[in-house]
Amino acid sequence: MMERRTVRTVRAAALAIALCAWTLAAGGADLRGGSAADAGEDDVPEHVCKKCASTGREECDQHDRHECALEDDVLFCSVVADCVTCQGTGFVDCKFCDNEHVQDGMERRRKDIARRGEQLAWIEKELEKPVRVAESEHFVIIWESREMKVDKVKRNPHEMLHITAARMEALFDLYLEKLGAREGDFAEKPLIAVWWDDRDQKDASARLCGNANSLGVKLYTVNPRYSTSGHKRHFKDDEALHRNLVHNATHLLLSHQRPSYWIGNDKKGWADAGLAHWFEFELTGSCRTYCYEEVNTKRDFKGGKFKVGVRKLVALNKQPAMSAVMQKKTTELTPEEHAAAFSYVDYLMQRDGKKLNDLLRRLRQREETRDALQATFGLSILELEELWKAWVLETYPTR
Ligand SMILES: [Zn+2]
Ligand SMILES: [Zn+2]
Ligand SMILES: [Zn+2]
Ligand SMILES: [Zn+2]
Repeated sequence: MMERRTVRTVRAAALAIALCAWTLAAGGADLRGGSAADAGEDDVPEHVCKKCASTGREECDQHDRHECALEDDVLFCSVVADCVTCQGTGFVDCKFCDNEHVQDGMERRRKDIARRGEQLAWIEKELEKPVRVAESEHFVIIWESREMKVDKVKRNPHEMLHITAARMEALFDLYLEKLGAREGDFAEKPLIAVWWDDRDQKDASARLCGNANSLGVKLYTVNPRYSTSGHKRHFKDDEALHRNLVHNATHLLLSHQRPSYWIGNDKKGWADAGLAHWFEFELTGSCRTYCYEEVNTKRDFKGGKFKVGVRKLVALNKQPAMSAVMQKKTTELTPEEHAAAFSYVDYLMQRDGKKLNDLLRRLRQREETRDALQATFGLSILELEELWKAWVLETYPTR
């Protein structure tokens, strides 16, 4: 993340300085020897290059122009990686101007892309076929599904690869921000793979996640991976698939975060599912994801409107007992309990995300929910339940 921002800032600064030099040059020869010269280091072009707007580079002519810019947001993309013209960067040096700074940066990037390509080679070996794969700052994405309409615009599979990477990065940023988690808590980049054909999904989920299934399959903790079909049969549109990926990637992040451990199998399903639903809701506005591990058949709770549904339950005093929900594995939760779990996490998150992060860490260290709750928020389960109910009635929408 930082690296990318720095590159952008430097690029923007170089452009700004170049424009400044041009303005001064237009203003009169006597001004040029002053501050403009002081600001000008080796990396500042002497004149504005109209060919590249003094960015020092141009889009590689082997690809669609607008797709070249996508490459700036990832570290590696297999679609362009083997291009002999740009060597995977999407750009070539501008022939019409000399910008050493940009050229050096591109040379470093070409080497980095080659190195990452070698590191990612295991994927194609494992799958025994070439796949469209990208590596971003915190994720590795495979997109072998079809084009999709995103916000009414058709996006081809290459664009979907990049869009998915960007969405996962947005989730990662939000995860760190809301929970106050540290980047260093995540040793491996989660792998997210989306296929079209059920046969491809079955084959890949067996090879990558050790479990052949036409529905989504997750591998938790040490090598976090999620493989799913993106077929219309499973997801009616881009939004539905996006929601599913956010939900499942959250499961991966939570189980992988140091100390790595999947709490969903350890009577702490409320926190495991609750957090996945929370980010699902935060980023897509509703909860519709019941993972394969959680529910085998199609289920739903109030059409995904968890807040409205939970409020209704609490208003009627028909909510499931918190002490019971907090004794279940993720697989044992009913749809109603999923919604309640989401809402517990919602309450704790708005009280203090950092404390919630600490609570989740304690759960991964095998602490009981009641002990972890007491140690972090200073609350018993009964006390939490009373506070939570009052908060739900006060803040949740009625429709
Ligand atoms: Zn690409
Ligand atoms: Zn190229
Ligand atoms: Zn140029
Ligand atoms: Zn889930």
